[in-house]
This record gives sequence, structure tokens and C-alpha cells, in this order.
Amino acid sequence: MHMPDAANSGDSFDVIVVGAGNAALCAALSAQEQGARVVVLERAPEEESGGNSRFTAGAIRVAYRGVDDLRELMPDLTEDEIAQTDFGTYTEDQFFDDMFRVTRNRTDPVLCEILVRRSFETLKWLRGKGVRFQPIWGRQAFKVDGKFKFWGGLTVEAWGGGPGLVQAETEACRKRGIEIRYRSRATRILTDGFRVQGVQVKTPGRLYELRAPAVILAAGGFQGDAEMRTRYLGPGWELAKVRGTRFNTGDGIKMALDIGASPFGNWSGCHAVQWDFNAPEYGDLAVGDAFQKHSYPWSVLVNANGRRFLDEGADFRNYTYAKYGRVVLEQPGNFAWQVFDRKVLHLLRDEYRIKQVTKVRADTLEELAQKLEGVDGKAFLEEIRAYNAAVRTDIPFNPNVKDGRRTEGLAINKSNWANTIEEPPFEAYQVGCGITFTFGGLRIDPETRVLDQDQEPIGGLYACGELVGGIFYFNYPGGSGLINGAVFGKIAGATAVADLRRNA
Ligand SMILES: Cc1cc2nc3c(=O)[nH]c(=O)nc-3n(C[C@H](O)[C@H](O)[C@H](O)COP(=O)(O)OP(=O)(O)OC[C@H]3O[C@@H](n4cnc5c(N)ncnc54)[C@H](O)[C@@H]3O)c2cc1C
Repeated sequence: MHMPDAANSGDSFDVIVVGAGNAALCAALSAQEQGARVVVLERAPEEESGGNSRFTAGAIRVAYRGVDDLRELMPDLTEDEIAQTDFGTYTEDQFFDDMFRVTRNRTDPVLCEILVRRSFETLKWLRGKGVRFQPIWGRQAFKVDGKFKFWGGLTVEAWGGGPGLVQAETEACRKRGIEIRYRSRATRILTDGFRVQGVQVKTPGRLYELRAPAVILAAGGFQGDAEMRTRYLGPGWELAKVRGTRFNTGDGIKMALDIGASPFGNWSGCHAVQWDFNAPEYGDLAVGDAFQKHSYPWSVLVNANGRRFLDEGADFRNYTYAKYGRVVLEQPGNFAWQVFDRKVLHLLRDEYRIKQVTKVRADTLEELAQKLEGVDGKAFLEEIRAYNAAVRTDIPFNPNVKDGRRTEGLAINKSNWANTIEEPPFEAYQVGCGITFTFGGLRIDPETRVLDQDQEPIGGLYACGELVGGIFYFNYPGGSGLINGAVFGKIAGATAVADLRRNA
């Protein structure tokens, strides 16, 4: 394809994609599929590339009507596996309901509709590019009466998790002749005031202008920048740990705002989880997402005052985990302890058994109270006594459903999965706040064109993934980040090329 303005000194590309995470690689594959010459710019060195996408477990939310749909995504499923599993359904309506409920009806209805309705076809498309999927038996299903039952609308994960996903997408790009330039940071968008003309690129030894008539921004949110976090999310956010890549410092957002793009969405909101209190400042690819501590629905969560401060069982984990990091950050000392007794220890996820964990174990509650660093032990013992007395032990415990086994009469009740804390051994895990990604970003039209402050498209500029605003507010249904990047990445690649053809 020969587009106008595509000539560079030595290079000739139709589309520049900024970033090499899931959204970017989907955009690159999609633009290439339409006949464009595509180059991908990735700021990180190759060994640290792949963005937040590589840090994930690869869980992907997708609407499906039943096992036949899942078979299309996962043709390797055996009859035995199907017989042993209740996959249920996760309809488009359920996906809509989840999005609207957790975002308190703020999600942009047009973008949300695209996300939901194109989720299945997009994963099928990715499968066609060589990305493989499998059911998330380990983390999203419990075995009941000999059968695995999925409980949270989240059934599919990429083969090999986030690293496997990024690797498969990278290989798919390479196979199709898409060049990926590592250690290549886009620092400025080139524009004639009407259309973009490329980007300025900084490498360790060189600053150069790379020209192309279309630029797709997929460079992630601003969670990696402590100053922006504090400015937009609020005081205290500089103290949060970053769960994923250190390279998402808001570059794509800032570059676009600099040329007049419109900010959109929940700029003071973010996805943040309970994360090991002593985790490093940024994510560690060797540990991946295992600093998270997501079995808190089976726990009692106490702060430095020894007090509970939230409803650990308000909903399935998938619908509360992304907002509870903020609540922990707001506690005195910015930490909390998740406390479990013997009855539920077998339910703890793998991440509780990693080497780098802040954990104490005790045979009596009094001993535990002494071991909970930073906690008022006397208040803690009172709190546990009051909590134990309030548990409706007559209601059976069932981790697969919202079982209604609750506390009654407490200032903050636990709505489901309430078990007493009384059988030794006791284990407790110290958590702080780990930020995943920011919700505020750029305003796009339904075809991913970046809009300016007059809500007109900025010619040749597109955006997808974390740096787009308007989709997530306050909270987030687990597994939506990857599908968001894939759906809008695919659209961005196709739109960029269609616009080029129209303008040629
Ligand atoms: C620990 C963890 C676990 C998660 N688990 C899941 C999960 O299981 N399921 C799910 O759906 N979501 C999960 N998420 C969220 C998910 O990772 C993100 O929503 C999604 O991957 C974002 O994709 P993206 O392509 O927009 O950004 P990224 O994958 O972060 O890619 C952005 C890329 O842009 C690059 N970049 C930044 N600035 C520049 C620049 N100036 N020039 C060039 N390149 C630049 C970065 O280096 C990076 O590679 C998780 C996130 C984390 C951190």
C-alpha cells in the first residue's frame, strides 16, 4: 500500500503503533491485515517489553452462550474436560450488567457496547492469529460434587498467561513482517496542525523523526508516574506500589493532550488491589501478579487499629478486588492484615505460597495478635471476638455462590462467606495498595479516532487500551483490561487503514 506522506528517511510506514502490549500488538496485527506497513515502537528493552499485558495472568473476560462457543475459542478442550466442568454461560447481557453495576452506570454506553459485543469475535480473531486460550480452572472455578463450576463470568485465559499472550502476539507480528523497535520511546507527536505526521523517537543514542500518516497510541496509563498519580488520584497515591510495568508513565496521554486531544473518563480513578505490603516499587516479571492477595473474601481484614473496615464478602472477588486497594491505602499506615483460620487455608490461592510473602502464623489468637506488626493487639482481639459472635454459622459456607453466610449486628457486616476465626493454625498476610492502571485517558470515537476538545477527530491519530478514558469508572470487572485492549486495538488498526484509504 502506498499512502501519501508515508516516506521517511530510509523508512516507509503507513502506521506507527506506540507501545508493544496487548492493545498495541492487536492494533499492529489488524492494520497489517488490512495491507498497511506497520512499525511498533516500544520504550522498554525487549526483555522488559510487553507492558502490563505481560504481567497479567492472562484472564480475559468474554461473552459466551455456552460450551459450544467456548469450543470455538478452545478447540483443544476434551470431552472429559467438558464433562467435568460446568462452564455455565456469560451472556452479553451479563457482561453489560457487570460493567454498568461496577462503574455505577458511568461507563460510556457506546464504548461499552462495542467492548461487550465484539469480545467473542475478537478472541476468535486472535485465535486465528495463533493465540491460544484455555479455561481458568485454577483461579475461577471450585470443585463441587466432583465437578468444576465457574462462578465469576471469567472463564478464559491466554495460554501461558500474560507472558504467553504477549509472546504469541509478538511472534504473530514478526511472522507478518511487522517491525518492533525496542528501546524506542515516542516523545512527541509530529503534526501540521491538522493531521499527525508521525512521532519523534528517542533511543539510547539517537533522537529522530519517524514519519507516517497514521499513529496509534497504545502506551498505557499514567500509573507508573508518582507525580501524575498524586496530581490526579490524590494525596497518598505516591505511596502505592505499581503492580506492573514501570514504563507506563502517561506518555501517550500527555503527547496527545499536547496537540489538543480531549481528556475523558475517571481521571481520579484507578484499578488498585491488595498487594504485598513489602512488594517492590514496580512489578517484577519473575513474580508476575503473585504479590496480589486475592483470597480476602475468606478472610477477616483488619487495619492498624485492629478494626475491620470493609465488607470482605460484599461480592465475588472479581467485582470488589479492583476497588479495595484504594480502601487499604486510606487506612492508617496504608496497610491491612488479611486473617484466616484453618478452615479456609486450603482455599488460599497460589499467590499465598510464594517466597516473597509477608506472612505470620500462630497457634493462638493471642500469639497472632502479637505478631501482627503495627496492629493494636488488644483491639484486634476484641474485634475478632465480636466478629465471631456475629457469624450466622447456621447458614452453610459455599465459595461457589454468594452464600449469604453473613454477620449480623456489626457496624460493618460481612455479607457472604463469613467464617469464624477460631481454629488454629491462624495465618495472616500484610497487604498494602498496588495500583494496576489508571482509568482516565483520551476521548475516542467508536472507531478509536482520538477526539480534540471540539470533539472532532485529530486526523491520523487513534488510541486503544489503558490510555483510553470513559470505559472504567470506580471499579472494574476482572479480566476486562485485556479484552478492552484487544477489541479496541483491532478496531484501531482497521480504522487507521480505512481512513488512509479514504484520504489517499
Ligand atoms: C499484575 C497485573 C495483573 C493483571 N491481570 C490482568 C488479567 O488477568 N486480565 C486482564 O484483563 N487484565 C489484567 N491486568 C490489566 C491489564 O494488564 C491491562 O489492562 C492491559 O494489559 C493494558 O494493555 P495495554 O496494551 O493498554 O497496555 P500495556 O500492556 O501496559 O502496554 C503499554 C506499552 O506501552 C509502552 N510505552 C509506554 N510509553 C511509551 C512510549 N512513550 N513510547 C513507546 N512505548 C511506550 C510500555 O512500555 C508498554 O509496553 C493486570 C495488570 C497487572 C499490572
